[in-house]
Amino acid sequence: MPTTNTAVQQESNFINGEFTKNTTGNWIPVYDPSTEEIIAEIPDASTADVDQAVAAARHAFDEAGWPQTTAQERGRILFRIAEKIRAEAPMLAELESRNAGKPIVEAEFDIADAATCFEYYGGLATKISGTVNPVPDNALSLTLKEPVGVAGQIIPWNFPLLMAAWKLAPALAAGCCCVLKPAEQTPLTVLKLAGWLSECGVPPGVVNIITGYGEQSGAALVTHPGVDKVAFTGSAAVGKIIMRSAADSLKRVTLELGGKSPNIFFADADFEAAIDGALFGVFVNQGEVCSAGSRVLVERSIYSKFVEAMTEKAKKIVLGPPLDRDTKMGPLVSKEQFDRVRSYQELGKSEAKTAIGGNRPKNFDLGYYVEPTIFYDVDNSARIAREEIFGPVATVIPFEDEKDALKIANDTPFGLAAAVWSRDIYKALRMVKAIRAGIIWVNHMQPTYVEAPWGGYKQSGFGRELGLHGVDEYLESKQVHINLNEQPIGWY
Ligand code: NAD
Repeated sequence: MPTTNTAVQQESNFINGEFTKNTTGNWIPVYDPSTEEIIAEIPDASTADVDQAVAAARHAFDEAGWPQTTAQERGRILFRIAEKIRAEAPMLAELESRNAGKPIVEAEFDIADAATCFEYYGGLATKISGTVNPVPDNALSLTLKEPVGVAGQIIPWNFPLLMAAWKLAPALAAGCCCVLKPAEQTPLTVLKLAGWLSECGVPPGVVNIITGYGEQSGAALVTHPGVDKVAFTGSAAVGKIIMRSAADSLKRVTLELGGKSPNIFFADADFEAAIDGALFGVFVNQGEVCSAGSRVLVERSIYSKFVEAMTEKAKKIVLGPPLDRDTKMGPLVSKEQFDRVRSYQELGKSEAKTAIGGNRPKNFDLGYYVEPTIFYDVDNSARIAREEIFGPVATVIPFEDEKDALKIANDTPFGLAAAVWSRDIYKALRMVKAIRAGIIWVNHMQPTYVEAPWGGYKQSGFGRELGLHGVDEYLESKQVHINLNEQPIGWY
């Protein structure tokens, strides 16, 4: 049974530049998934709290002049946020690691990436500009770029502060105001950030943070008439609900959803690098990665050797407390996620052969740990090969040749990411062109850069985050036509 720490911090919503009182009196427990202890409580925000947050954002946007701040001012504010995150990085990494269960070394990378994201969009703020259109008339035709307005932003629990940075930084650079709802499981680091916004120069109401369950405060944000755009990262199932509920008010919607990404290994790939890449692709962050290479496609001629080598190396993955620097895999984020992944581990045993794992690890009776698991001889029609598990579960699938690999790779409702491993540049690039996914790595898997676009094809969503595309999603284009001909139109 979960126990309660003696000193459980009660957190607050952040509205109009202030941490506010819990209006409902209902609290949501926040856990350390490695000990199952409650480490904090957050308000279960109500529809009225969402109304208040949206009203604050609307006021900041419509009346208090945030969109009229200069791009230089907004850029400098983003730089100050980045600086603050870097200054507080050790504390943030520890908090993230404790709350999400991710190994501390990985949490340190995430926090540094969050700071880099604010720096990138701080720099980009002053490069947002419109165009002059070459219309065939005596006129000046302009396209102005303007902020879309108030953005409702909903994020998942796997990279808590980083996902918040991906949402807030481009929106603020564009001149939007934000109401962000973190995942109820992992709200702690973004609430820390909220506490520093004022000293970084963010005016009240420009960023508001609402804590609560998706079905209540998340849903209220999506349907709120004061919200102009919804940016959602999460599961495909919730993405579909969001798209439907945003339809009534025809909000702009961007969806970053899940995946079942193929990690494809040809026989001519560097074998050592391939084994590393197969394991890293699916097991980093406990497999709780939207772009996880959870379908490992291996050319038949190296298949047995590959499964064997992957299995041997997987035995070396150190499970342990997230704050231990030797830990390579922590617990899953929650009991719910643990139960979900455990059920797929059991399903896998009936759908395929087990090379390693498939259970709760021995000596881990406490904490939501599961064994890194490799199923092989998996048919691509099996549920474990089609459904997103979002845990450390690899499904290894053999293929015969390039054509077969491509067919299996594209045979999925998702299209977020893929990787191709080969020394043959012709073959690798043919695959790159033919795979239907938004991100493709060659001879690597998972590195993600704020400078390059991120997003999915098919049921992995639409819209792009990061890079120049990321800020575009928060901008409207306004056409301005200036007639330079002083004569009357002369039509009638
Ligand atoms: P989830 O969809 O259950 O929840 C995501 C967020 O949506 C949470 O904040 C939740 O409270 C909220 N939510 C839930 N129901 C809602 C509703 N009816 N209305 C409004 N909001 C609602 O996803 P999760 O389990 O937190 O995260 C895992 C999923 O996120 C995986 O599918 C993963 O692939 C995806 N993900 C995608 C990306 C990407 O960039 N494509 C990145 C990270 C995670």
